[in-house]
Amino acid sequence: MAYATVNPFTNEQIKVFPNSTDAEIDAALDAAHETFLSWRETSFAERAKVMQNAADILRRDVDKYAKIMTLEMGKLISESRAEVELTAAIFEYYAKNAESLLQSQDLPVANKDEGRAKIIFQPLGILLAVEPWNFPHYQVARIIAPQLSAGNTVILKHASNVPQSAQAMDDLMIEAGLPKGGFRNLYPSHDQVARIVADHRVRGVALTGSEGAGAKIAAGAGAALKKTTMELGGADAFIVLEDADLEKTVKWAVFGRHWNAGQVCVSAKRMIVVDAVYDEFVKRYREGVAQLKMGDPVDPSTTLAPLSSQKAADDLKKQVEGAVKAGAKAEEIPLAMPNTGAFFRPVILTDAGHDNPARREEFFGPVTLLFRARDEADAIAIANDSPYGLGGSVFTKDEARGERVAQKIETGMVYINHPTMVKADLPFGGVLRSGYGRELIGLGIKEFVNAKLIDVV
Ligand code: NDP
Repeated sequence: MAYATVNPFTNEQIKVFPNSTDAEIDAALDAAHETFLSWRETSFAERAKVMQNAADILRRDVDKYAKIMTLEMGKLISESRAEVELTAAIFEYYAKNAESLLQSQDLPVANKDEGRAKIIFQPLGILLAVEPWNFPHYQVARIIAPQLSAGNTVILKHASNVPQSAQAMDDLMIEAGLPKGGFRNLYPSHDQVARIVADHRVRGVALTGSEGAGAKIAAGAGAALKKTTMELGGADAFIVLEDADLEKTVKWAVFGRHWNAGQVCVSAKRMIVVDAVYDEFVKRYREGVAQLKMGDPVDPSTTLAPLSSQKAADDLKKQVEGAVKAGAKAEEIPLAMPNTGAFFRPVILTDAGHDNPARREEFFGPVTLLFRARDEADAIAIANDSPYGLGGSVFTKDEARGERVAQKIETGMVYINHPTMVKADLPFGGVLRSGYGRELIGLGIKEFVNAKLIDVV
């Protein structure tokens, strides 16, 4: 398995990166451990300075970071710039808030004569971050910003198709003033990743990716009794109730399914529309999708990017064919498509019946599963008929109704009148086969700290 930059717009291989050697991995683990011993003793103010520097550098060099991402995984350049800003915002969030988030907590004790008790939060050691290609900078930041702020050190195994984005994050942290060894990008094979997980100095693993990768890494970590957080796939429901503002709803539906070329764990993958507005919604949605423009992701007029690789496009095609074989109807939206590149024309899938496996699958690209629901209760039932539990959204003019529906959807996040989104100051994570644990805000920073009781009797 080689790490390589392949431009998805041209399918041209730009550069190959050899795997890390075992000696390089051992040296990185030694350095990460050594650095941990001193980094954990630094003050929150010192760590905050490094985090703020990282945010400032990202904003200063936004185009540099954005171009690498677009080159390696093909997202629109405007999306890459927005991702750099989001990444900067996450570093800044922890620069400002890590200290208060990890304040020790005095515990109320029933009988004061029995002394006092408190909880302090201490770092654990080296963490391994295993990350996917779809948000090459943001995914890394949402682990390293909180965990370096907490006093841990981190080793990164990024996806094999974004090696330059991975190294850019390594260089960024050095420039920001993080001691060498505090954060290190490696190019390990899967076997070498297993060895890193098993190393006694590695205290936890955070993974974002597919269920298959999550299950393997979590099993290895479990065998070594190490904590993991898992951010896995999703098939978010996008529920449209009869009182929704259809114009806004359709705009968000088109965006929610097609941003990042549909390759977002929280893309609006299943549109569930109540009968009363179904026909009108579908008509307008089809028209909206037909307005998208495929092309060079660095051209500002392009609105639908290529997928991350030709293999991703080929696999998605096979998955749609499987859905059709099992009884679904596929409508391809006839957008003009460049001759080369990992492009995929948007598809709307209907009639995926109860026995059609596609009904419960994740389509990682511009494929919309469309469902007609009888009413609100039926829409909730369809939304919950999924092995995934990441995000979801409800569109209605009645916010209280939206909240009531949100409470009945079995996921980690629900948005009212907006597709599931990502922000520096909101938590992220799911339940069921979408994984466990939370990233960002106080929940994220506390995933890999020792909540130690000190009881003075
Ligand atoms: P993969 O799970 O294949 O890759 C994710 C990361 O895991 C990569 O770094 C990959 O490395 C690594 N990996 C995979 N298998 C192993 C292994 N056996 N040992 C060590 N490392 C491994 O995911 P995809 O590329 O298919 O990415 C898309 C998937 O990720 C989708 O299902 C999507 O929903 C999910 N995802 C979830 C998100 C969330 O926040 N919940 C966000 C983004 C994506 P390598 O490239 O070298 O194989």
